[in-house]
Amino acid sequence: MKTYRVALIEGDGIGPEILREGKKVMDAAAEATGITWQWKAYPYGADHWVQNRKGFPTLVTEAEMAELGTHDAVYFGAIGDPRVPDSVNQAGLLLWMRFYFDQYINLRPAKLYRGVSSPLAGKKPHDIDICFIRENSEDFYIGLGGRFKGTRSHDELEMRRALCKARFDVDISLEPADEMGYQIGAMTGRNAERTVRYGFELARRKKLTRITLIHKANVLMKIYDLWIERARQVARDYPDIEMELAIVDAATMWLVRAPERFQVIIAPNMFGDILSDLAASIVGGLGFAPGGNINPDRKAGVSMFEPIHGSAPDIAGKGIANPIATILAGQLMLDHLGEERAALLVEQATEDVLAAGKVRTPDMGGRSTCRDMGDAIAERLLQLKP
Ligand code: ATP
Repeated sequence: MKTYRVALIEGDGIGPEILREGKKVMDAAAEATGITWQWKAYPYGADHWVQNRKGFPTLVTEAEMAELGTHDAVYFGAIGDPRVPDSVNQAGLLLWMRFYFDQYINLRPAKLYRGVSSPLAGKKPHDIDICFIRENSEDFYIGLGGRFKGTRSHDELEMRRALCKARFDVDISLEPADEMGYQIGAMTGRNAERTVRYGFELARRKKLTRITLIHKANVLMKIYDLWIERARQVARDYPDIEMELAIVDAATMWLVRAPERFQVIIAPNMFGDILSDLAASIVGGLGFAPGGNINPDRKAGVSMFEPIHGSAPDIAGKGIANPIATILAGQLMLDHLGEERAALLVEQATEDVLAAGKVRTPDMGGRSTCRDMGDAIAERLLQLKP
């Protein structure tokens, strides 16, 4: 019987209520399949920062971050609270965690389930079923840039990642009274290669036949020519899977006009961020969109699973949040841990409850609570128990 140690971080706003339901469904999946969870809750969020770390730029200490890495996975609710600067939540926790544990894959599946309507006309269940893979640690999100007023500036910027260290010396001359902001994007060949390989492996495992590689090499050729070259090299190892290239503008249009043509999308960080939100919105919205920040090598770094929405302060404490994104994030966690049967049960139970249409949270036009939804899915899962 397999035991998994998982760190639970509820966070802020609706975080505690959605994660409670996610955990409930994971407990049901464990009961159905004979695995065991060892949960350990961590109090990181706004209250913790205000009480223990006010004024510090990170939400947790480095020792606390390192301790998260002793688990098999991190299951996360949501953070965001007016008492904490955004930079502390982002650079001081979420981005830091990605870099610290080298979570270079952001997996954001988008599937239209039975019982959920798409804002796109005429789409039937499963017409939209996209494994969306976003590169998670490079590109234009490396946090390097500057802004200045004056005539001359010199900046020394450093990038430190598991795969590279780089220093950029930037000299700028400007007309007096003008102002400049700039942002650097960078990509390494090895990171491009391992990201694309993850996509091909996932396609093979799920018996899919086509991958779409997003780029913008017609304009940003230094960075995306490298991305495409490495992808083509990887593709040679998978002759059974077709790889098509798509410029991001065209892909955006196709996601709206004919999303059924996509099976696996692999996108660089920034375009992936934007396109995956669009993908989430065409399968029902934020309440249905899970995400995994993944290091595929479990020994090299822990992975973190979360809904892609934020802490939704406007509905926090009312018990009406939709926990499905969090429950489906738990499904991604089970899949990552190699518990495919349990993962399938979670998805099946979720879809059955959605299709039955009896339990609907207010974002779905119903009056059920967050707890009603978690209870219904956990109960259905136990009925499906093999
Ligand atoms: P962040 O910047 O942290 O992502 P945000 O304010 O941009 O936060 P969210 O917190 O994700 O966005 O919320 C956006 C809107 O979607 C809000 O109106 C919120 O109530 C709604 N929302 C988000 N998650 C859920 C959910 N699980 N169930 C119901 N409504 C939700």
